[in-house]
Amino acid sequence: MEALFEKLIQAVEAGKQTVLDAERYIWKHPEAGYKEWKTHAYLKEQYEKLGYHLTEFGNIPGFYTDIDTGRPGPTVAVFGEMDSLIIPSHPEADPETGCVHACGHNCQSAALLGIAVAFKEKGALDGLCGVIRLIAVPAEELIDVEYRKELREKGVIKYFGGKVELIYRGILDDVDVAMMVHTTSNPQYSMTCPDGTNGCIVKKATFIGKSSHAGGSPYLGRNALYAAQTAMSAVNALRETFRDQEHIRFHPIITEGGTVVNAIPDHVVVESYVRGATMDAIASTNEKVNRAFAAAAAAFGCRVILDDQNGYAPRFNDPNLIQVFLDAAELFFPASEIRVGGWGSGCSDMGDVSTLIPSVHPNIGGAVGAGHGTDYFIADPEKATVTSAKLQSVVLAKLLMNDAALAKKVIAEKKVTYANREEYLAAIDALNHVYDAVSYRENGDVALHFIG
Ligand SMILES: [Zn+2]
Ligand SMILES: [Zn+2]
Repeated sequence: MEALFEKLIQAVEAGKQTVLDAERYIWKHPEAGYKEWKTHAYLKEQYEKLGYHLTEFGNIPGFYTDIDTGRPGPTVAVFGEMDSLIIPSHPEADPETGCVHACGHNCQSAALLGIAVAFKEKGALDGLCGVIRLIAVPAEELIDVEYRKELREKGVIKYFGGKVELIYRGILDDVDVAMMVHTTSNPQYSMTCPDGTNGCIVKKATFIGKSSHAGGSPYLGRNALYAAQTAMSAVNALRETFRDQEHIRFHPIITEGGTVVNAIPDHVVVESYVRGATMDAIASTNEKVNRAFAAAAAAFGCRVILDDQNGYAPRFNDPNLIQVFLDAAELFFPASEIRVGGWGSGCSDMGDVSTLIPSVHPNIGGAVGAGHGTDYFIADPEKATVTSAKLQSVVLAKLLMNDAALAKKVIAEKKVTYANREEYLAAIDALNHVYDAVSYRENGDVALHFIG
């Protein structure tokens, strides 16, 4: 093994209590996206104790720090996500907020701190060039959307996803390569890396009917709940038109279903994502969903306000970066515990990063239970944080050693969707639409409007 790899691995090992303490602290102080202020404060203290100078994002939690080798070369960003989920029924959920790290982002933040420990070791940057940017990033989970809308209305954020917001703020403008490692509860593999994962549009449909006495005069009402129910049934029947290779997912919930049992519900809200493997597949499916929603509303004489917002772009893991991770992973795991390829149907704002910057987002074991489930726990924190930090440190060294030959190969052969931030932001902004999908004309005609 290269002496530098050995040095980095030993440095993480020597500082592993710091990493393990961070994992437990953040698990015990879970905070949903854009609210991660305790996590921010804890991590800030730890980084500053190590001697790092931080650039804080200010009005949102998170910061970055640059580890400059002092020699010109590419900038490689590493993300550690800070946000939790909200699952009040999880046995270790915060009793007040219902927050819990059932996606293991606490491990990512701890591992990122481990990388910070490694590169403070004397001689850790010898033979490397370029810059390593460690980024503590908020708000990956696309939840608590009403709160984020409030932040947007107040001008605090423009985008719901933390990494999308960082792109918008220009924080990734000078980043050439991006990486992060997520925790997985896959019982079979210590490291997995799919070719990519789905993207999504965030959908809210408000069905508007007419209230009347549910017992005395239901014939005077227009039932928004039945309109919503019919809309969801229509989409369920459309599922046979979904192509397997497009990995479409539609999973609605009713967030407002009526107020009192003796009145015909006149205001019902359905929320969902429309997920898919490409932006085209997402848009064409979204158009079908909107058509079904508009037609179902019309069937009951109701209206429906369709509110589509950009969610996350599909993620493509850069093949050259996957290879670097694979080579490094062999130092830590037997080949039988490593799996690459396949497609993931979840979504992440790392997808958005991957449309601009060659990116990779493998998963490392250490968790048990279902991701986002009530049985999700960190069973092997050492693997999920300490080993992750060692692996990522070796990957960074591989990318930036030998005059950054591997990073330069990644950059030369990159295949990204957008040339720059402006092009990307224009494309995602074009996905946002709020409109009344049904109009009733005086001559009795009903017009449906729907957009993909
Ligand atoms: Zn998650
Ligand atoms: Zn996650």
